[in-house]
Amino acid sequence: MARPIIARYCQWCEKQIRGRSDKKFCDDTCRNAFNNQRNIGEYNLVRNINHALVRNRRILADHLNGNTLMARTNREKLLQNGFQFKYCTHFQLNESGELFYFCYDYGYQPLPQDGYLVIRQQNKF
Ligand SMILES: [Zn+2]
Repeated sequence: MARPIIARYCQWCEKQIRGRSDKKFCDDTCRNAFNNQRNIGEYNLVRNINHALVRNRRILADHLNGNTLMARTNREKLLQNGFQFKYCTHFQLNESGELFYFCYDYGYQPLPQDGYLVIRQQNKF
């Protein structure tokens, strides 16, 4: 009994593929082009998020100017500096059970009325 023939198309150039039924690309050129494009996309995504995290960290660090351990700021100031609240590296609860968001070694705690407490991570973390 003859099997139905299902047309398959190259994932890169979209031409019809001939040959083995598990082939996804015409040839190595198409496979390489497809994989390179995917890697570039992943690299850009990771790079953009990494840049946003480093920038967030620098903005928080600037609020502490040097040796200060904590400072108050507000949402408006952080946004004006380009802070992106959706990116942080981790969370910590302090001894009182209050949640802090961190960008590497700098963290912040939301306060009432769009205020923020900015802190630098202590050694005990
Ligand atoms: Zn192709």
